Amino acid sequence: MYIGGKKIDIIIQTEPEQIFHGVHELVRMAFPQFNIKMGGEDAECPNRIFLQGRVEEKALCLYGSIQVDGKRTEDRQNCPLTEETAASGSKRWLARAFAYRLLCRHCGSGLNDYGLLTGVRPVKLVHRMLDRGLGQAQIMRELQQKYLITASRARLLMEVAYNNRSYLEESAAHHLVSIYIGIPLCPSRCFYCSFPGAVLKSYPEQVEPYVRALGQEMDDIGKVLKELGLGVQTIYIGGGTPTVLADKDINTLFELLHEKYISSVTREITLEAGRPDTLSSRRMELFKKVGISRLCINPQTMNDVTLKRIGRQHTSRDVGAAVEWARQAGIDRINMDLIVGLPGEDQEDYNSTIAQALELKPENITLHTLAAKKGSDLARIEGLSWQKDDPIKAGLASMQAKLRDEGYQPYYLYRQKYMRTDAENTGYSLPGCFCRFNIQMIEERQTIIGIGGGAATKLIDSRGKITSLYNPTDPDSYCTAIPALVRRKVDNLRALN
Ligand code: SF4
Repeated sequence: MYIGGKKIDIIIQTEPEQIFHGVHELVRMAFPQFNIKMGGEDAECPNRIFLQGRVEEKALCLYGSIQVDGKRTEDRQNCPLTEETAASGSKRWLARAFAYRLLCRHCGSGLNDYGLLTGVRPVKLVHRMLDRGLGQAQIMRELQQKYLITASRARLLMEVAYNNRSYLEESAAHHLVSIYIGIPLCPSRCFYCSFPGAVLKSYPEQVEPYVRALGQEMDDIGKVLKELGLGVQTIYIGGGTPTVLADKDINTLFELLHEKYISSVTREITLEAGRPDTLSSRRMELFKKVGISRLCINPQTMNDVTLKRIGRQHTSRDVGAAVEWARQAGIDRINMDLIVGLPGEDQEDYNSTIAQALELKPENITLHTLAAKKGSDLARIEGLSWQKDDPIKAGLASMQAKLRDEGYQPYYLYRQKYMRTDAENTGYSLPGCFCRFNIQMIEERQTIIGIGGGAATKLIDSRGKITSLYNPTDPDSYCTAIPALVRRKVDNLRALN
């Protein structure tokens, strides 16, 4: 809403603040066109939300009022507190549910298929319920009644959790970690991407010092893994676009991996060859020779007009050629990332993209919903808008149905901020071809050590507590920071084991 060319804020006031923690995200879904501010005074602002929660005589007394767009909605509710709901975490869910229902009443519709869940990893919740020994029916009930998730999304979350649970148990039984290696360089910047790595301009100036620094970090971390007796279960080389590395640097990287990381417990080595314009038949033979077992060739769409529009320097035909070269070289696990919601695309494009992707018979297809990441050209031009019942959702549903018809199963799922609609990103796989690294990365039950620019390390202790450490993304900052960040990682790893 604009008055005199100025975007109007909604001011949210909460009492006490902590009980309504996270309510900002729900308000953003209800009113995507507004700037939202938590707290503060602005007598001019006509749009206000007030939420209050007080504990009185074994009940949580909630009050809320919404004054937005010239319309007022208010409500109050007393929630009896049992032994279970008196915990501060449970009070927060009650308060959130109250705010959510009030927002739905004001807007005259449901806000979001994921109900109160605004986080990135909703399947973790199902795993926690399974840990508590809950059965299928109880989990479905809790997802819908406590978290207000729709039945279809609750079923999807359950299906993913049931599909990937044995992989979590398998890795928990050993002293195993996974490794992520980041190569934060790309041949050009895609329209929708906010990744703060560098665009490759000069190989000698940007890549060579980077590869030296990466080698140093790999060497130091490798020694600590040996000292602590940790085995590497999976390795994922991501970016950016790791395949911008020249053959000699791929060889150097893999010499170190074979020397210090790869062993008889290593089950999977993935290389993100995201941009088909960095691939050739000869390079595929190199990838196979050095030991890559899974390759990501990511078209995003098979529509050549869209590819050009979003700044990719390849065509759908290049994707087909890359898959053929990979097969000829003997790489038997291929993933293809597709994005639903790219600018200018409609149902016809989605139908054509999924049909062409399926013709190439990849073992994995990951369906992404477009997210307007802050800092991307897309967000700058189109804003961070969010729409309910967007055609994107219909497109996503039709592609999901097609994948299921062809025997693919959903096995990992995550959400992102600023998605264009209330959907998710889901990894689909043919049976028996699940990517272990993706499961571990999303469910956060195994330590993942991130090495290289932009890599995140997640250290998981025996009680499931997570310590996160981040490497700088910009290659120059990474090279300078190496000694300090290796020290910090090593200290944390030793403390954990
Ligand atoms: S290839 Fe990936 S990381 Fe690089 S600019 Fe495109 S979307 Fe971003």
